[in-house]
Amino acid sequence: MKSDVEIAQCITMKPIEKVAEKMGVGRSKLELYGDYKAKINEDQNKKIEHEESGKLILMTGISPTPAGEGKTTTSIGLADALQKIGKNAAVAIREPSVGPVFGMKGGAAGGGYSQVVPMEDINLHFTGDFHAISAANNLLAAIIDNHIHHGNPLNIDPRNIKWKRVLDMNDRQLRHVVEGLHGKANGTPREDGFEITVASEIMAIFCLAKTLEDLKEKLKKIVIGYTKDDAPVTAGQLKAHGAMAALLKDAIKPNLVQTLEHTPAFVHGGPFANIAHGCNSIQATKTALNYADYVVTEAGFGADLGAEKFINIKYRLSGLRPSSTVVVATVRALKLHGGISKTELEKENLQALEKGLPNLLQHLDIMQETFGVSTVVAINKFPTDSEAELKKIEEKCREQGVEVVLSDVWANGGSGGKELAQEVVRLADRGSQPMFTYDLEDSILEKIEKIVQKVYGGKGVELTGIAEKEIGKLEALGYGDLPVCMAKTPYSFSDDPTKIGRPSDFEITIRDVKLSAGAGFIVMLTGNIMTMPGLPKSPSAESIDVDEDGKIVGLF
Ligand code: ADP
Ligand code: MG
Repeated sequence: MKSDVEIAQCITMKPIEKVAEKMGVGRSKLELYGDYKAKINEDQNKKIEHEESGKLILMTGISPTPAGEGKTTTSIGLADALQKIGKNAAVAIREPSVGPVFGMKGGAAGGGYSQVVPMEDINLHFTGDFHAISAANNLLAAIIDNHIHHGNPLNIDPRNIKWKRVLDMNDRQLRHVVEGLHGKANGTPREDGFEITVASEIMAIFCLAKTLEDLKEKLKKIVIGYTKDDAPVTAGQLKAHGAMAALLKDAIKPNLVQTLEHTPAFVHGGPFANIAHGCNSIQATKTALNYADYVVTEAGFGADLGAEKFINIKYRLSGLRPSSTVVVATVRALKLHGGISKTELEKENLQALEKGLPNLLQHLDIMQETFGVSTVVAINKFPTDSEAELKKIEEKCREQGVEVVLSDVWANGGSGGKELAQEVVRLADRGSQPMFTYDLEDSILEKIEKIVQKVYGGKGVELTGIAEKEIGKLEALGYGDLPVCMAKTPYSFSDDPTKIGRPSDFEITIRDVKLSAGAGFIVMLTGNIMTMPGLPKSPSAESIDVDEDGKIVGLF
C-alpha cells in the first residue's frame, strides 16, 4: 500500500493560477509562492453578505480516540465529492505545525486519496506563516524584557509576566527555563518558559483578525502581564503592535493550494483546539465563501470543543455561519468508546458498539439541540467495519432523526463521498440559524456553567481558589464580557480523559484562568493542558529524509 506522501507524489498538480481561475480568482489577486502555492490578496473590508456568499459546512467529530476519526481527510474528500456532483466547492482547513510533524501525529494535510498538495511543503515550511507568527510573538517578548532592562518605566512585575517566547517545535527542554543570567548587562534573571507557536495567542489573533487594521487592534490589546500594583500591561503600552503587525502583513493573506483532485484548498492558520479555538483563519474561510458555493471547514477535536468554539467564538465574532454540519465517526473509535482495547478492534463487536454509540449520539444532540444546526453522520470507512455494525449505527442515529452516510474518501477520493455530498447539500440548502450557548452579558461563571450543562452534559462547575480569584479580578478589570475558551481534554466530555463514552453526573473543575485579551477570549484551564509538547521515544523525524534531487521521503 502506498504511503500518503507516495500517493501525493504520483499526482500531477495543476498550476495554482488554473485552480484559482476555475474559482473565479484572477491572476491579479494572486501572490505566487512557486508554481503550486499562492496567497490571495482580497479586500477583507468587504462585508459578508449571506445571500451572495457560499454556504459553509462545518466538519466536526466524536470524542477523539487513538483509533483516529478522520475529520481532515473527510473535509478534503467532501470538497472533492461536491465538485464531483457538479458544485463549485472549496475546503478551508488549518496549516500543520512542524512540531507534531516530527513527533508522531501523522500529517494534518488529510490522508490516502483525500489530501491537499504539495503535502511536503504544507507539512514543512509552507509559505512561512508560522515563522512570521513566531517572530511577531518573540518580538513582543524581547520588547518586554528590554523595557525592564532599561529602567522599567511601566513598573512591570518580572514575576508576573504572562507572555512567553514560542518556537514551532516539540521541545520539552524549553518548557521551563531561567533566563537573563550572567550579570547586569545581560538582562534581568527570571523564570520563564517556551510554548509551541500554535498554542500562542498570536496564532489565535491571526485566525480571528478580520482585516489588517483589526489585527493591529487585537495585538494592541494583548495583556502581557501585570505591574507590581497588579494593573494589566498591554502590548499597546509597550508600542509593540505596529511592528508586530508589520511582521504579519503578508502572513495574514490566505494561502491557496489544491486537493489531489484540484479542488481549491485554503490552508491558513492553525491554532490549538485546547488553549485556543481550533479553527482556520476567518480571512481564509471568508475568502473561500466569496468564491465557492460550498465551503467545507474543520473544527478541531469533537463537537464539545471545536464546534462549540466555532459557534461561540468564531461565528460570534465573524458572522461566518454554518449552513450544515457533519459529525465524523468510525466504527473502530465507537467500539473504543464502548470500552474494548485497541487490539480487539478488527473483530465485529456489536455490544462494544452499542456501549460506545452514546458518545456519537451526544455529539448529535449538541449539534441539533444545543447549537440548532442540521447535521449528518459520516462514517469514515475502514475495511474491518461489518455490515451489522454499520446497520446498528444507522438505526440509532435515525431514531434521533439524523442520516448516516458511509464515506470512503480515504480510499477513493471524491467519488467515495458523493452520497455524503448529496446529503450535505440537501441540509445546507435548507439552511440553519445557529444558537449561541451563552450571552456575552452572562457572568463568567454562568458562561462556563451553560457550556458544561448544555454541551458537556455535566452537572456543574467547581472553581479552585486560584480560578475564583482570577475570575473576580478579570471581571473587575472589565474583561467579563468576553467569550470563554474551554481548555479541556478532548477524549471525554468531562475533564477526566479516562471517562470515555457518554459520562454523566460529573463536575468540571476550572483549575486556572488565562486572559487572551488580544484574541478576545478568556481561557478556562481544566486538567493539565500542554502548551509545549515533547517528542516521543522514536520521533517520526527519524524516518523523514530528502534525496539528492530534493524529493522528500518518509512523511507519513
Ligand atoms: P482528524 O482530522 O480527525 O485528526 P485525520 O483526517 O487527520 O483525522 O486522520 C488521521 C489519520 O488517519 C491520518 O493519518 C489519515 O491518513 C488516517 N485515516 C483517516 N481515515 C482513514 C481511513 N478510512 N483508513 C485508513 N486511514 C485513515
Ligand atoms: Mg484534523
